[in-house]
Amino acid sequence: MNLSRVLPYAKELLEKVIEPGGVAVDATVGNGHDTLFLAKLVGENGRVYGFDIQEQAIEKTLERLKDEGMADRAEIHLRSHADIKQVVPQEKHGQIHAAVFNLGYLPGSDKEVITKPDSTLNAIEGLLDILKPGGLIVLVVYYGHEGGNEEKEALMTYLHELDQTKAHVLQYQFLNQKNNPPFLIAIEKR
Ligand code: SAH
Repeated sequence: MNLSRVLPYAKELLEKVIEPGGVAVDATVGNGHDTLFLAKLVGENGRVYGFDIQEQAIEKTLERLKDEGMADRAEIHLRSHADIKQVVPQEKHGQIHAAVFNLGYLPGSDKEVITKPDSTLNAIEGLLDILKPGGLIVLVVYYGHEGGNEEKEALMTYLHELDQTKAHVLQYQFLNQKNNPPFLIAIEKR
């Protein structure tokens, strides 16, 4: 298939906007794959801020970063992404190149903890305040689980109403695939 699948497309977008020495946010570190990807893109002089509300996710991510010798360029917080704006230091506001979200539950977990509409939307609002112009928020929207559809609906309502003078909003989705595969949302701050 010549069209990029959703996860590779998310990476292509992040690669496009994150420069060495830059600042990036992983709003849902989960197993840490994206955190590591961001850490590589920002390079040794850059910074990654990671968030998750499950201890298990934080531990996995720290381990992965350490194994690759990249722990010093990342700060991983056991805290909701709703608090991103408060946690990222003031001097980095306006300098964030990109943020990534993987919505849903932690793969391999009991599916009890899922991302929720209110905190997801709070996190996006906070990020729009502190992204640099041209910066991107990339969301991989998984919605096949219980509670997933509700979050998807809230997100889509919010995005359709987002002021077009403030942000460009893109949806990237294969329309004819079965079993609710994830789709992508990219929000570019203007
Ligand atoms: N569904 C994706 C992975 C999603 S992981 C896949 O299959 O690849 C989602 C992560 O978000 C989980 O680790 C979960 O603990 C975390 N999470 C849930 N609510 C959160 C919140 N408010 N702030 C930060 N992380 C949160």
